[in-house]
Amino acid sequence: MQFTHLHGKTYFIRTFGCQMNMHDSERVSGLLDSCGCLEVAGPEDADIVIFMTCCVREAADTRLYGQCSSCKSLPPAPSGRRVVAVGGCIAQRDGSGLLTNLDNVDVIFGTHSIAHVAELIDAAFDDGEHHVRCEETDSEAATTMPWHRAEQYRAWVPIMTGCNNFCSYCIVPYVRGREKSRAFEEIVDEVTGLVRTGVREITLLGQNVNSYGRDLFGSPRFADLLRAVGETGIERIFFTSSHPKDLLPETIDAMADVPAVMPQLHLAVQSGSSRILKLMNRKYTREQYLDLIDRIRDRIPGIALSTDIIVGFPGETEEDFEQTLSLAERVGYAQAFTFIYSKRAGTPAAEIVDDTPRDVILDRFNRLVHVIEDSAYAFNQHDLHTTVSVLVEGSSKKDPSMLLGKSPKNQTVHAPIPDGYSIDALIGKIVDVSVDRARTWYLSGDVVSDPR
Ligand code: SAM
Ligand code: SF4
Repeated sequence: MQFTHLHGKTYFIRTFGCQMNMHDSERVSGLLDSCGCLEVAGPEDADIVIFMTCCVREAADTRLYGQCSSCKSLPPAPSGRRVVAVGGCIAQRDGSGLLTNLDNVDVIFGTHSIAHVAELIDAAFDDGEHHVRCEETDSEAATTMPWHRAEQYRAWVPIMTGCNNFCSYCIVPYVRGREKSRAFEEIVDEVTGLVRTGVREITLLGQNVNSYGRDLFGSPRFADLLRAVGETGIERIFFTSSHPKDLLPETIDAMADVPAVMPQLHLAVQSGSSRILKLMNRKYTREQYLDLIDRIRDRIPGIALSTDIIVGFPGETEEDFEQTLSLAERVGYAQAFTFIYSKRAGTPAAEIVDDTPRDVILDRFNRLVHVIEDSAYAFNQHDLHTTVSVLVEGSSKKDPSMLLGKSPKNQTVHAPIPDGYSIDALIGKIVDVSVDRARTWYLSGDVVSDPR
């Protein structure tokens, strides 16, 4: 289809939230590129400004309002007219209701309507009216649309959308809909195609990758998918997110057996208290989670474990929180994303009355952050005086003479750029780094191999 108003227009996308949103933004870019639009680095140079929004926590909601309003004070758009569009989870949740508070928004498209973004923006340029599309289910699978990758050497590969879990605090199932797996062959073909174009690392994406395939004919398992993707020639495979209740022994076996699956696992625990886990509707206990961790470590020694933890779930007591602290100490996470509970209207947890003072929650949060910092530091010491292979991502912002990349355990690694190489020649290459420094959030050392 030809969208006459789009050819030659410039666009800028600001993305909030998780990798799924970042990947959705790549699809939006892909569609706009295919209509002859050109991406620019900032909103001031853009004819089209798009916000890909997140509503998992309140802070992301608030930021959208600030950023959207600030578009009003931008210099005039290069083409003389600017269209502002809001996509993603807030758009899906609020639909045209957003127009009440955001009077400069022209286009609203929900999480299931990405395929229509070009026609909506084109129509807004054409008639100057508001255009809103927020279907409840996919009108066209976003995963089959063109996409625009920021990097040539790594890619996100969505394997499923939606979530069936309804954790009591979480808005995601309401805005992203039910679980829907992509066809097995389609994913494997996509990864094969990516390998041919030079991609070396992929991250398989889904809200709960461990339940992949349940809705497909023949019920292929996530473990089967890992093995099949591992045969494509891709060098590094990461995946996220895993729900502990669905992580089967056969998946742990596949992780151990497939050389391309990196020794890293993100396994959100949310709380260390079985009482709170029950209120959260997580469907596992503290003991079951710890038992799972032991089984993973038996099979994949040295694996880097990361997690998500919520502090201040309604009714969390000091005793519950201490259970979270002791679980984090016992697991020894390499990394953790820690969040203060944010009440989300429409979720069951929002109905629970809680009078825990804010400063008590903040104090707990800070105590948890210290425990995580200690465990990340301790975890990184295991790699001191070893050699790690690093996929180079770029140079350090603070010191452009240092390269920066990721180890197989997803640790950030810094090293001086070797003599005779420019950073551009190294991005996307793998180098070996002999680690002589292990800090809380990074390793550093010298490059001891040729780039490959
Ligand atoms: N599906 C993923 C999983 O279960 O691991 C997580 C997706 S969610 C976008 C990412 C994280 O946000 C969750 O793991 C949880 O820790 C956090 N989160 C979700 N709802 C929240 C809320 N209402 N308040 C604070 N944090 C929340
Ligand atoms: Fe939200 Fe739970 Fe689904 Fe993750 S598994 S997206 S936390 S409902």
